[in-house]
Amino acid sequence: GGEPCILGQANDITERKRAGEAYRESEQRHRLALQIGQIGAFEVDLESGRATWTPKLAEIWGIPDNFTGDFAAFCWEHVFPEDLARISEEFGRLVENREDGEMEFRIIRTDGVMRWIRWWGQAIEDTAKGSLRILGVNMDITERKRAEEELRTHREHLEELVAERTAELAVARDAAEAANQAKSEFLAMMSHELRTPLNGILGYAQILTRAGGLSTQQAQGLQIIQQSGEHLLTLINDILDLAKIEARKLELARTDLHLPTFLQDILGACRPRAEQKGLSFVYEAATDLPTGIRADEQRLRQVALNLLGNAIKFTEHGSVTLRVSYELRVMSSEFEGSQLKTHNSKLITHNLCTLRFEVLDTGVGISSGDLARIFHPFEQVGAARQRTEGTGLGLAISQRLLQLMGSAIQVESQLGVGSRFWFELLAPLVADVVAAPLPPARPISGYTGPRRTILVVDDNPQNRAVLVDLLAPLGFGLLEAADGRAGVAQAQAVRLDLILMDLRLPVMTGVEATRAIRQLPELQGVVIIATSASVFDADR
Ligand code: ADP
Repeated sequence: GGEPCILGQANDITERKRAGEAYRESEQRHRLALQIGQIGAFEVDLESGRATWTPKLAEIWGIPDNFTGDFAAFCWEHVFPEDLARISEEFGRLVENREDGEMEFRIIRTDGVMRWIRWWGQAIEDTAKGSLRILGVNMDITERKRAEEELRTHREHLEELVAERTAELAVARDAAEAANQAKSEFLAMMSHELRTPLNGILGYAQILTRAGGLSTQQAQGLQIIQQSGEHLLTLINDILDLAKIEARKLELARTDLHLPTFLQDILGACRPRAEQKGLSFVYEAATDLPTGIRADEQRLRQVALNLLGNAIKFTEHGSVTLRVSYELRVMSSEFEGSQLKTHNSKLITHNLCTLRFEVLDTGVGISSGDLARIFHPFEQVGAARQRTEGTGLGLAISQRLLQLMGSAIQVESQLGVGSRFWFELLAPLVADVVAAPLPPARPISGYTGPRRTILVVDDNPQNRAVLVDLLAPLGFGLLEAADGRAGVAQAQAVRLDLILMDLRLPVMTGVEATRAIRQLPELQGVVIIATSASVFDADR
């Protein structure tokens, strides 16, 4: 009979025991979690001041083991003064609104050590008991803060370093620009120095040839002097061009040009050389090519001559072809246009055209591996490397010139079969361009009419001699002056028709002398032509 009762009791104890165990277990788990997380926990009743806290919290705050004082007061006392205002405000809000919150702040412990605290808390009100409790946990985040701080100083240091390096680079860049400037000035000076004696050589080769009465050997010798001199001049000009482009000193000078004359000029320059080599020289032009376009004539001629010159140079058999085609375009209505008749006879206003220049040859060709290199300065590929003629600068210059014009040379080639070089140029159309008169084919031997007097102002005696010996045989009267002031004096003393004025002169420059002459009423009519070997565009 008593057994069930015993059993019943036994059951009851088991339940209670189980409930107690479960509670303890969960307690333990919480404690373990707090321990592992290095978290200190606390609970404080704001009404009574009663508080409990875990050993970890005591460790974080430095609360003595036997502490019996006011927990809340202790904490407030140890908050870092600078953070006090901020967190007391946050804490006040949390209590007022009975909510939870978190904050970070510094404390100064009793042992004088400063720590960073991360604080989570919740305000709980129990109206029945009339209590307002704060439950919370704290974590020591000093190490994290220190790492952050270190990171920040590193970053700031990095920024400083970057700023420093940038400043250094700016200095280096300025120095490089100055050096570049010095280089191009040096080259311009050198060009003057190199061209002046060449002018003497070429001038006298011409004068002596014209004078006649030479033996065959002398005539041949003079021809070699002339050819070598011209070759040298081309080389100097090429190197200068490249230097100017590299120094971004080269500016395009666009003018209205007469396309048919321009093309005839180029063909005329190339045909003799092609025919000398026994090549057929073919010109294929689209019908109705526009007459007037706006372009940098000198530079466009340079590119075309370079491509045609190469085609002739690197072709031994077959043909060289220049093909010119075009396409009309309408860019914008406000652009001043020219009217052209299209094939269906409708009048349409066009203001732009794309000109396409193509140079085809049946020459040695270029291997695909070499194609990329031919546009680099001083690169000569294939068998051309053994040649003495050429500098390997032509294509490099042409490509850069076309870049300035917003275009590019393209190339297709097959070794042993031939090459095709081409480019397209977008150019405005212009109406009413008249062909410039072609230079006379016959050498000039004199002139009719009253005798004219020319004053040559140049400090270089060789330069003066070349001009005097070139012009005197034609019947001109010639006078010389070696500096600007002497030139002005001569101009006042003698009735002149023309002055050839060098720009760089001692005592008084060519420009100053010209100004002085222009101020004299009796010399208003005299024509003054500047002569210079300078490559500075500004001088021009
Ligand atoms: P250069 O003609 O003074 O050597 P370029 O820059 O004009 O210099 O040409 C560079 C090189 O490209 C030439 O030396 C030659 O090897 C190659 N090349 C240019 N044009 C042709 C061509 N039409 N056919 C074959 N090779 C060419």
